Amino acid sequence: MADQSHYAQQPRRVPQVNTKYRRIVTEIPAPGSLPILEKLRQYEPRSMSGQPPIIWDRAEGCQVYDAWGNMWLDWSSGVLVTNAGHGRAEIVEAIVNEARKPLLHNYCFPSAERAELTERLVKVAPEGLGKCFLLTTGSEATECAIKLCRTYGQTKSPDKIGMISFLGAFHGRTMGSQMAGGIDKLKGWIVNLDPAMWQVPFPDGYWVEDTSFDGFLASLKAQGVEPQQIAGVMTESYQGGNASFAPAEFMQKLSAWCKEHDILLVMDEVQAGFGRTGKFWAFEHYGVTPDLIACGKGISSSLPLSCVLGRDDVMNLYPPGSMTSTHTGSPLPVVASLANLDLLEKEQLTERSARLGSLLHDELAKLQVKYSSRLGYVHGKGLVASLHMIKEGRKEPDVDLAYRVVARCIDKGLMLFSPVGVSCVKISPPLITDEDQLREGLEVINEALGEVLDEGLQAQA
Ligand code: PMP
Repeated sequence: MADQSHYAQQPRRVPQVNTKYRRIVTEIPAPGSLPILEKLRQYEPRSMSGQPPIIWDRAEGCQVYDAWGNMWLDWSSGVLVTNAGHGRAEIVEAIVNEARKPLLHNYCFPSAERAELTERLVKVAPEGLGKCFLLTTGSEATECAIKLCRTYGQTKSPDKIGMISFLGAFHGRTMGSQMAGGIDKLKGWIVNLDPAMWQVPFPDGYWVEDTSFDGFLASLKAQGVEPQQIAGVMTESYQGGNASFAPAEFMQKLSAWCKEHDILLVMDEVQAGFGRTGKFWAFEHYGVTPDLIACGKGISSSLPLSCVLGRDDVMNLYPPGSMTSTHTGSPLPVVASLANLDLLEKEQLTERSARLGSLLHDELAKLQVKYSSRLGYVHGKGLVASLHMIKEGRKEPDVDLAYRVVARCIDKGLMLFSPVGVSCVKISPPLITDEDQLREGLEVINEALGEVLDEGLQAQA
């Protein structure tokens, strides 16, 4: 897990940077930021201190600024949220107008804004998914999808409550979503894990070499699970931390198998949706249609909002008043999302992600060859990529190396968030980025990798 000690806490001299997109003029962390960092350390739980010690003061387009004259080119999208860019004027205006109206809250009482957004979201979902339930966080959306699966399963038979998900998956931090996740060390606190939640290997083709659907069936069999016990299968469309996709053939077989056994297929698009991978939904790469979609993050490019989209019969399982949330369709996030959807559409950001993504991945493939003994592989599609750092010439994750590369990029004015997979440097610029910015970011990664690896060699010598 992220640990503050991965980043220097005391200001250190770093080379000054001054380009069109990056500016580093102070020591890092900026001396002026220390009292704020200290206050956060004092009043927040330790768990919140995992990111590089940079105080975000404002963020616009593809740039993040602190209050001491530094500017970063953003390759984080603030954990894959700001697909349409940071602080877009159109989104700001929508929020300000709504705040001035004012309509700041309306609980589940109907609103025109909620009517418009649910219609818009259903229209961008695949045919057959006719309902949209708005929530606030991604964890709530996946939690809700689990609940819907289990309720649906029980309409078929009392024992049909099982959830299948994938090893390595992250679906959120609430109890159900965390149990459905596939990262054991995050689940220790639960102790009494639900005995009807099982995980199977995610066929990423690198760590898990067997990408056949037979492997999936064999894993269920080994765990003594029968299809009639299963209510739902949930997977991230690409596995988040690693940006890894399964083969399309695997997903197509999974989808057909789910249909055969009346099992709901849930795609967790919290991170992958809204154009990130060069398709509006990442599951489109597989040519499958899920029964439920859980999404969030890029849905608004800003304020907290998430939703579950799904089949009418599944989404209508609960009577009036029994599947709601205090902030369902909270007006400010809703209008932010509407403005965001306009931008994604008007600026054709999905297509842009596909186009620039192929440039990004071509260049990253060259870096992988150049640094192949430490950069095991690069996964991702469109404007998301993960660089998997490994121990010298061994297929073994090197978490420390990933942190060092991220820290060096921060020093150089390229904003990345801390490694979230085992050992990955995750790349996810806003989809409005341009070729010039991409090439500059790639050069920074190249320099950072080169320097960090050279230093490692010198330390050994
Ligand atoms: N699912 C996926 C695939 C995610 O990446 C995340 C967040 N990283 C979540 C669910 C949980 O979302 P939230 O943090 O908004 O609860």
